Amino acid sequence: MKSTVEVFESILSKNDKAAAKIRADFNARGLLAINLMSSPGAGKTTLLERTIKELGKKSVKIGVVEGDLETNKDADRIIGAGAKAYQITTGQSCHLDADMVKVGLDNLPLDKLDLLFVENVGNLVCPASYDVGTHANVVLLSVPEGDDKIPKYPVMFRRSDLVIITKVSLIEHFDFSIERAKSELAKLNPLSKLIALDSKTGEGFEAWIEFIAEQKALLKKVNFSGILEFPIKRNPLTPRKLEFPSARNSRFYNYFFVVLKIKVKLLFQRHINFIFYFIFLLYNFVLKSNCIFEKYDE
Ligand code: MG
Ligand code: ZN
Repeated sequence: MKSTVEVFESILSKNDKAAAKIRADFNARGLLAINLMSSPGAGKTTLLERTIKELGKKSVKIGVVEGDLETNKDADRIIGAGAKAYQITTGQSCHLDADMVKVGLDNLPLDKLDLLFVENVGNLVCPASYDVGTHANVVLLSVPEGDDKIPKYPVMFRRSDLVIITKVSLIEHFDFSIERAKSELAKLNPLSKLIALDSKTGEGFEAWIEFIAEQKALLKKVNFSGILEFPIKRNPLTPRKLEFPSARNSRFYNYFFVVLKIKVKLLFQRHINFIFYFIFLLYNFVLKSNCIFEKYDE
């Protein structure tokens, strides 16, 4: 029994469980949470500043969990734009994990928020591997970085629900093709969307506001249909992760099959010798068509 639990623990790693708890809390509150990831300087904070101002006109209240190695500079900018923010300084860690985000959430007035962002540590590699309990992964790629970043950092783009090409007003000065970016993304993740905008000029910004509204509507639908969390990292909001009929989305269904799989595996490992002996007997009996026990009759 202990070994079953141990294997089970390793499948649902500690971080994924903490993330699932956070997401369940977001779902219960009907609070949409979006994880923003990119390399440093792609424009996550600038995107947030304009988003806060645009949505502020519609009295949408926004909270941000800020992740940075050092300094409170980004949180100060967010607060300056009119939202609530809590800065996590990760020190050595180049990504946020679910426990760090939880600290941020404990320090934000979640009851008073309509929308929450996690601004992850600027890094195109490991933030993608840590579920932080948000509903959607949004990856920013700025025009000066080049469209070749998509095939170069496949894990990040595979996990995206939306890719935002930022600083698009600079496009004529760089060798960046939106079409090439779209086709590279489609190879890795055909269900991820791609939009291009410029947070400084406001060009293309309405598509981003629309994406947020769509996600918000999806969250309502998910809550209404009673679809619960997946125990294994899955985003319940995106079509990619709603690929199963709704009955299969229940927590019970998933836990049941994970446990069943482990039990069958352990049973097999424990009785492997008997299984091979049985196969050996069968081989002699069926293929050679003379039972091995006949030898003793001679
Ligand atoms: Mg920033
Ligand atoms: Zn990291």
